[in-house]
Amino acid sequence: MSSIIQLLPDHVANQIAAGEVVQRPASVVKELLENAVDAKATDIKLIIKDAGKSLVQVIDNGVGMSVTDSRLCFERHATSKIRHAEDLFSLHTKGFRGEALASIAAIAHVEMKTKQDQEELGTHIIIEGSKLISQEPAVLPKGTSFAVKNLFFNIPARRNFLKSETVEQRHIVDEFQRVAMAHPNIHFAMYHNGSEMFNLPISNFRQRIVNIFSGKTNEKLVPVNEETEIVILDGFIGKPEFSKKNRGEQFFFVNNRFIKSGYLHHAVMSAYEGLLKDGAQPSYFLCLDVPPHTIDINIHPTKTEIKFDDEHALYAILRSAIKHSLGQFNVAPVLDFDRDPNLDTPYQYQNKEAEYPTIAVNSDFNPFSTEPSRGSFSSSSQYRKQELKPNWESLYVGLKQAGQELAEITFENDAVTSSLFEEADIDQEVKRTYQIHKKYIVSPIKSGMVIINQKRAHERVLYEEFLTNMTVKQASSQQLLFPLELYFSSSEIHLITELKLSLENLGFIFDTINDNSIIVSGLPVTISESRASIVLDDLLTDLQDGIPDSSFSQNDMIAKSMSKSLAIKTGTYLTEREQENLVHNLFACKEPNVSPFQKPTFITMSVEDLDKKFAL
Ligand code: ADP
Ligand code: MG
Repeated sequence: MSSIIQLLPDHVANQIAAGEVVQRPASVVKELLENAVDAKATDIKLIIKDAGKSLVQVIDNGVGMSVTDSRLCFERHATSKIRHAEDLFSLHTKGFRGEALASIAAIAHVEMKTKQDQEELGTHIIIEGSKLISQEPAVLPKGTSFAVKNLFFNIPARRNFLKSETVEQRHIVDEFQRVAMAHPNIHFAMYHNGSEMFNLPISNFRQRIVNIFSGKTNEKLVPVNEETEIVILDGFIGKPEFSKKNRGEQFFFVNNRFIKSGYLHHAVMSAYEGLLKDGAQPSYFLCLDVPPHTIDINIHPTKTEIKFDDEHALYAILRSAIKHSLGQFNVAPVLDFDRDPNLDTPYQYQNKEAEYPTIAVNSDFNPFSTEPSRGSFSSSSQYRKQELKPNWESLYVGLKQAGQELAEITFENDAVTSSLFEEADIDQEVKRTYQIHKKYIVSPIKSGMVIINQKRAHERVLYEEFLTNMTVKQASSQQLLFPLELYFSSSEIHLITELKLSLENLGFIFDTINDNSIIVSGLPVTISESRASIVLDDLLTDLQDGIPDSSFSQNDMIAKSMSKSLAIKTGTYLTEREQENLVHNLFACKEPNVSPFQKPTFITMSVEDLDKKFAL
């Protein structure tokens, strides 16, 4: 029988290898940036067009390449970084496999210009799909410029597989930030479609983090330092109260290389134990310096996972160092998030004897009554004025008005919902709503009872309110006495600019949008000054995490996100009036039975259901 095994031609082998190294434009960004760092550049520019689909270019002022090297670098397993197998155990460079350039050149149009410092002339090379198109001497500055165009031009399936520009762009920014953060001693800049997205001067690590993530980051950071035989730990963690909902600001760098490690992440999380709300993610920017022979970076082709010799010891060191920092900077005691400052005893009352308030109970009071009661106030503004009176009785009258007013609004106009609730009992002092576990509101209805999830119900109420405001453009603003300056990263500023119109319809007033901050002089009435930046932060996070994919429109997305961040949370105590308000507002909604995220807002239980349970 004839033999059938053949060696693959080089260009085919390169294309196959490329599949491992280059998944998307961001992979090219990573390889080129790392090569520039390895070439000892002090100034690196990244230029992107169409989220890398048309162009990824990296320009550095590093050591450059000789004429021979500038051809050789495109060969597979061509590297200047290791010579012997032992070198793998003392690596100080990012690359060492000699695969990246060969892979990239196999699946794109590549143009490289490079010159070494001591040479008169440099080299200009064009390669397309592993084929050398031209090579000429050229007058060039010191360093290397590497332009990768039409990525995946010869693998249409891969090209079609790329995600939307926003998503690919996000991946590129991630890679850029990781490399830039690991090397604050290098000047990095990034341009996308002609506009500057980042310009990061040479600085220290803290300043680099701030330059990437905006000025407001500075106040969040707590330093972490520890020096032991096996690791030098250095970096910053975020104060727990600034924790986020996503894991976007979590970084480990091992010997100046960004890595992912579920195990070390766990160590950090365990140090924060008890300090974070459920699901909250702390920020961390941690650099670990370990002897190169104690790690193996070789286990993953894109090199973001590594293996440590002594993982357990690292875990313990990391955990205790972070705990120490949290304690030392007095961060730990602030953490009773849900405590309502209004419930704290005012200082001047602390040593006073308790006094019994005198209460005049109006036994005729019925918040659900639709009849106007005696001495009623016709408008809500009058009611508010009344509420400010500093004695109990008037507050009580106010309460009655509130109940009455609500009843008028929601029950009279809405035949369906008004029949949902039982008619007034003879004993009118009976409470109509009960809050259970600061989570559910229970209320009797004609057929039995209704159990409402307070958070979801409020989300529904806010969502419909926001949507109406944005589409009918009726939202009113509260003018701020002192405009707020809120800081954002430049990519976040881009997004805010895109959302500006919808946000303005909602009641935001933007005075100026700068490169790194926005000045807000008015807010929607539903958003307090102190919540403004949190609400916008949440909105940007949702947008980047792809909530719009499940939304019909930008307005819908904003309404969803804001209702989520502004809704009263599980665990919040509601006064009776607040409970009633919520119930009424919910049933005045167009779609009261589901939250904006299509989860049920309430369930009902009929008397028969209850009877059945007792029959068992
Ligand atoms: P690796 O980085 O793993 O060695 P690459 O394919 O990324 O493999 O690069 C091959 C070689 O090309 C490198 O070892 C280096 O000598 C050279 N090289 C690549 N990029 C640059 C650059 N920007 N400046 C100088 N030399 C470079
Ligand atoms: Mg490389």
